[in-house]
Amino acid sequence: MKVLVINCGSSSLKYQLIETKEDRLMAKGLVERIGIEGSVITHETIGKDKVKTEENMKDHKDAIKHVVTHLTDGKTGAIASMDEIEAVGHRVVHGGEKFSESVLINDEVLKTIEECSDLAPLHNPPNITGIKAAMEMMPGVPMVAVFDTSFHQTMPESSYIYALPYEYYEKYKVRRYGFHGTSHRYIAERAADFLRVDKDKLNVISCHLGNGGSLCAIENGKSVDTSMGFTPLEGLVMGTRCGDIDPAIVTYIMEKENLSLADINNVMNKKSGYLGISGVSSDSRDIEEAAEKGNKRAQLALDVFAKRVKKYIGAYYAEMGRVDAIVFTAGIGENSKTTRKDIINGLECFGVKLDEELNNTGKGERVISTEDSKIKVLVIPTNEELMIARDTNEIVNG
Ligand code: ADP
Repeated sequence: MKVLVINCGSSSLKYQLIETKEDRLMAKGLVERIGIEGSVITHETIGKDKVKTEENMKDHKDAIKHVVTHLTDGKTGAIASMDEIEAVGHRVVHGGEKFSESVLINDEVLKTIEECSDLAPLHNPPNITGIKAAMEMMPGVPMVAVFDTSFHQTMPESSYIYALPYEYYEKYKVRRYGFHGTSHRYIAERAADFLRVDKDKLNVISCHLGNGGSLCAIENGKSVDTSMGFTPLEGLVMGTRCGDIDPAIVTYIMEKENLSLADINNVMNKKSGYLGISGVSSDSRDIEEAAEKGNKRAQLALDVFAKRVKKYIGAYYAEMGRVDAIVFTAGIGENSKTTRKDIINGLECFGVKLDEELNNTGKGERVISTEDSKIKVLVIPTNEELMIARDTNEIVNG
């Protein structure tokens, strides 16, 4: 089945066309600056030239129209006509407690996704805009919603309840939801395939380390804990997000710096993390380069990052009692050998042994621990879009 996978941001839209029969990526692209002057679409059909063009796009419906035009272009396209798109899979950030798996979108589902917007005001509204635009453009084509939160709905209460007055959970649904669920689920499945074991018997600590990052404790194939919380701000040190801090710092700094609620939110989400500590950049490559040249704060940022990940690994090991594999994925996890080494170094007490050579070389899915390491350490490139396409295929074809 040919599935168009759509990931809508407020002014951007990422897409992939995937043939699920062979898990084959046919085309992919990115639309930027939707509704802003100078909208740009970058399209690539696999095996053909990449095209980047400035085209005016006033809204998301307009953007999808342009995507379809590029997909069906005689020279640079991937399909002959829009009719070949058999289903659309949408990434939706927040499914609240309502969605524990992907669903076929109908009016009721759409309404429920809208109700979840309160929990993700920056993310769900553009996702909904994308769904509505696609429905208008492609009436009759089945659409599926795949949620970042749904994989974590298997967490026990003891993992998701915060030690706040319980009524905030009852009244406002304040609890841990967790994110990157589609990626963690993909990692659990791939790790099981790669290690040739039954997914339902495998215990994995999945380390999704990108611009945003989270760890997930996966016990017998199910998420039992994760580092992101009520929002994607909790947990690890990220590009510009602070992750875990003493909550008392919030009111203290607000008072000292005379900050509003919006200001402090901005500080924690946009000015902290790698950027905040190093003062250099939010990008790990810039920080690694600066640290190599002797920049102490850049090195400190890397050290704080690695220590935080290590702490979570230790915590999840204790929580599950047995770990078969630690898996690294996403931009930093897949590419930064020094970060992987800094995280794994010191975990020898758990019987984890990194093979330096394997860590420094190789590409794609691979083992980077020694033969005698009690816990395998793997690198597995994530593929959320493929997961969305597979879910869409399964749901539409029953
Ligand atoms: P997101 O999808 O969350 O925006 P990514 O998964 O693309 O993020 O990860 C972005 C991060 O990965 C950046 O910090 C970037 O520096 C890092 N990264 C990407 N490639 C490399 C590389 N070759 N070496 C080190 N870090 C890398």
